[in-house]
Amino acid sequence: MAYFIGLGYSDGFSAHLARLLEELVPDSPVRLTVGTDAVCSHCPNNINGFCSKPDKVAGYDRAVLDLCGLGEGDILPFGVFASLVQKRLLAPGCRPGICGDCQWNEVCAAHPSRWA
Ligand code: SF4
Repeated sequence: MAYFIGLGYSDGFSAHLARLLEELVPDSPVRLTVGTDAVCSHCPNNINGFCSKPDKVAGYDRAVLDLCGLGEGDILPFGVFASLVQKRLLAPGCRPGICGDCQWNEVCAAHPSRWA
């Protein structure tokens, strides 16, 4: 989300993520999960509610939660979550160590975070 520039797994996925980023205002409550979520709903890798690479993605998600001092199931305002991610993970340069093996790594590495 922090580095989204319109690219994605399919046109439907990208359009949905763009909509989601518009709809999520700082006060929007979000519930954190390491399973499929609102972002995954239009992803072609979402097979009947299950990601095709669940262990890889859950590893990314758990690392983010750990660095932010959060846990699965926590509910908090989206703006608070985004600020925590920016401050504790993106600003200190921790992102490549978490998801540097992702296919989108070069895209994220080439752009500033929208939350900076
Ligand atoms: S976690 Fe899996 S289903 Fe969700 S957006 Fe990523 S690749 Fe798609």
